[in-house]
Amino acid sequence: MNTLTNADLHCHSVVSDGTLTPEALAQRAQANGVELWSLTDHDELGGQDRAMAAARAVGMRYLTGVEISVTFLGITVHIVGLGMDHNNPALLTGLRATRGGREQRARDMSDDLARVGIKGVYEGALKYVGNPELISRSHFARYMVEIGVSKDTNDVFRKYITEGKPGFVPHRWAKLADAVGWITQSGGVAVIAHPGRYKLTPNEEFALFTEFKSHGGQGVEVMTGAHNQADYVKYAGYCQKFGLAASRGSDFHSPEESHTDLGKLPDLPGSVTPVWELLQSRIH
Ligand code: AMP
Ligand code: MN
Ligand code: MN
Ligand code: MN
Repeated sequence: MNTLTNADLHCHSVVSDGTLTPEALAQRAQANGVELWSLTDHDELGGQDRAMAAARAVGMRYLTGVEISVTFLGITVHIVGLGMDHNNPALLTGLRATRGGREQRARDMSDDLARVGIKGVYEGALKYVGNPELISRSHFARYMVEIGVSKDTNDVFRKYITEGKPGFVPHRWAKLADAVGWITQSGGVAVIAHPGRYKLTPNEEFALFTEFKSHGGQGVEVMTGAHNQADYVKYAGYCQKFGLAASRGSDFHSPEESHTDLGKLPDLPGSVTPVWELLQSRIH
């Protein structure tokens, strides 16, 4: 395996905020030519056994995965973990705590939306939720499209439920050091997810990368659905600059909503070390 391996190490199932089951994702990934796959549900490992079995059934190699919500300098950033022991007690406890605030946050989001005349969104979003511990803004967005508030989920995020807009409720997620620690102490590799999405200042970005490294983080997503050509070049450069391995993952959530399908990103550039080289012994 090398930089040309068709790896897709970032996507979501109904166990978090995706719309497909782990089995349907495995079949879609395999049909799209994926050779090495990981399901990385938000703050949750409940889909890992199903994903691993489904990958085996279609003849695809598999790495365990998770995407942990982190608050760093008051900003929400996501850290992907790959290759962990998904039964590790400290990892499971940390993720349970990270999921814990979602229920109250969702109720507060709904109250805030009611104040601008959009009522009953908590109850409406619930029918899109596959895992009661993982109600997310994506479920709110799907219900708000259903009731005609917006034409698509992107438009919901543009007008509501993001910073400064109705329905946004600030939330404190896991600490960066804890998230990286849970991943590395359970045998995995921590990866900064879609750094191009955070719109950080150069100082904030330097702080994120250096602190992530100091806690034992080893990778960054270079190829991801949220990045453009300039981001590919920039973050491949960061691999050299910070001594990080590169990851590749579509962040696929849904055939209707995601513009990048499983396995369809460009290959990693030849200049980087693919994160799967660090994870040879963890591949199922
Ligand atoms: P949450 O963890 O509840 O804050 O929800 C975050 C999720 O919302 C992300 O993982 C994405 O799936 C989705 N999301 C965030 N921003 C956008 C956006 N601008 N357009 C579409 N989906 C988004
Ligand atoms: Mn998501
Ligand atoms: Mn993310
Ligand atoms: Mn994601």
